[in-house]
Amino acid sequence: MARVAYVNGQYVPYGQAAVHVEDRGFQFADGVYEVIAILNGRLVDAEGHLVRLERSLDELRIRHPMSRAALTVVLNETVRRNRVKQGNIYLQITRGAARREFAFPGDIPPTVVAIARSVDMTKAAANAARGVAAITRPDIRWGRCDIKSVGLLPAALAKQAAKEAGAYEAWLVDRDGYVTEGSSSNAWIVTKDNVLVTRALSTAILGGITRSAMLELARREGLTVENRAFTVAEALAAKEAFVTSTTSYAMPVVSLDGQPIGNGGPGVVASRLRALYEAHAASHGAGDADWEAGFLAP
Ligand code: PLP
Repeated sequence: MARVAYVNGQYVPYGQAAVHVEDRGFQFADGVYEVIAILNGRLVDAEGHLVRLERSLDELRIRHPMSRAALTVVLNETVRRNRVKQGNIYLQITRGAARREFAFPGDIPPTVVAIARSVDMTKAAANAARGVAAITRPDIRWGRCDIKSVGLLPAALAKQAAKEAGAYEAWLVDRDGYVTEGSSSNAWIVTKDNVLVTRALSTAILGGITRSAMLELARREGLTVENRAFTVAEALAAKEAFVTSTTSYAMPVVSLDGQPIGNGGPGVVASRLRALYEAHAASHGAGDADWEAGFLAP
């Protein structure tokens, strides 16, 4: 069956799927998005993603295009029509199309696009077994990284730098020398004292859905968790490091800027959390977290 994308109320052949040239997403990055994992043909932690999406829309005063229930139907139907069993769905909502002017246009319909694709997870599994490299880059993003906006140029530049360095991810470092997060992931370390550390929620990072799920799994495992910023030096002295995201689950980071972390291989905590998260994803994340409470920036 040919691939289809959802665009503004219609399922259209992928090759013909298009939005207007004056869409504000295109001209101003005036839009938000979500990426939701699909496992066994079902969405993982859909509720968490939709709660975060609504929060992003509200923070930017973009009208909700439809109810959460209706959006869920659209997402599931896009997955079904593309026969995706394992992969992810990309959902983007922009303020809409209007004659180019910086200030918001009047009451125009938001643009809604959904694209589902299959992903072969064998490469991710091989990466997880070996561990991946990360580099550090200055965090040059804007002041509202808690909003999942489509303004992703700093992240794209950082990811390209990582790619050119043969690394999997770039950890972004703020002006005070603290790691904020990865270019498309949240950053974690395990200290020599076995404390799991990840940066606290604020406007400086995106509240990852995987991060929230992982925190809950870690607590249930009885791990000591600290939500605080850590420096690059602390990461280099750590026992383990890893990143979390919808597409990476928990991915062990075994070197930073070419220097090994811990024993230079995937750590036991990261590997254990990855296994727990795989089980969580297989259950589609049902009923694990209070998503409504989880993403408010202080
Ligand atoms: N931080 C940033 C900047 C991201 O772009 C992402 C995901 O794309 C994440 C964190 C991880 O978020 P999630 O776990 O919801 O995929």
